[in-house]
Amino acid sequence: MNSPATVVGPLIEARGIHKSFGQTPALRGASVAVSRGEILAIMGPSGSGKSTLLHCLAGLFTPDSGEVWFDSRRLDTLDEAARTRLRRTEFGFVFQFGQLVPELTAADNVALPLLLNRARRRAAYRTADAWLDKLGLADKGTRRTGELSGGEAQRVAVARALALNPTLIFADEPTGSLDSLTGEKVMDLLVGLARDEGTTVVIVTHDARVAAYAGRAVMVRDGLVSFDERAAEASAARTAASPAAAAGGTTAKAGS
Ligand code: ADP
Repeated sequence: MNSPATVVGPLIEARGIHKSFGQTPALRGASVAVSRGEILAIMGPSGSGKSTLLHCLAGLFTPDSGEVWFDSRRLDTLDEAARTRLRRTEFGFVFQFGQLVPELTAADNVALPLLLNRARRRAAYRTADAWLDKLGLADKGTRRTGELSGGEAQRVAVARALALNPTLIFADEPTGSLDSLTGEKVMDLLVGLARDEGTTVVIVTHDARVAAYAGRAVMVRDGLVSFDERAAEASAARTAASPAAAAGGTTAKAGS
């Protein structure tokens, strides 16, 4: 029935996702599609469901219903081991809290996911040092991340996410705890490096200044993506590709 391979599909897509926490509905049929190489901002007020949507896209939450597709593969029905593998090899995460180990040095933190992916120790640390250098942290490699400033720690998190050369980066309020100047620096680096590497980036933010770095923004309100032009086009293209499709008239844009 579903055959996303019939069109040049999005890299990642949520289709009609529902997710509740107990009695609280967080998502009520949210759909969004992100193209390869795109930088997308997911905006909306606090509590609207942005983080839940990001977690569902990243396979960190399983939706109650609806589908998540990554690179023409169904993500939400994969078992946990397969999802973990996918997260380790294809996805990078820049979250506001929690992704760095404060007792470890900056270099250890960046090297860790590479070592988990079975990189050799020397190669992992060489890569980690190179990324820390790119992010202006060459002299901070041996410092524990718990002793760094918020902006420095967020740059370590960016280095850590990018060092794996992921296909897709998920960022959740990546500048939330930073002053605006430091936040701009972090966004410049994240978006600039992602563009250089052709990485797809999905950023959750309620901050219009952060969203301005994205090529496109969608709004989440009350658990729904209020309007997403690209998803509408992808869906129209799928309908047009189906033999049962009656009408078209939509010119689907491929790429940005
Ligand atoms: P946003 O990222 O837009 O601030 P969230 O996706 O974090 O919104 O939350 C959407 C709704 O789901 C809110 O009502 C929130 O309280 C609820 N929610 C999110 N995560 C949990 C959780 N782990 N347990 C219970 N409720 C949650």
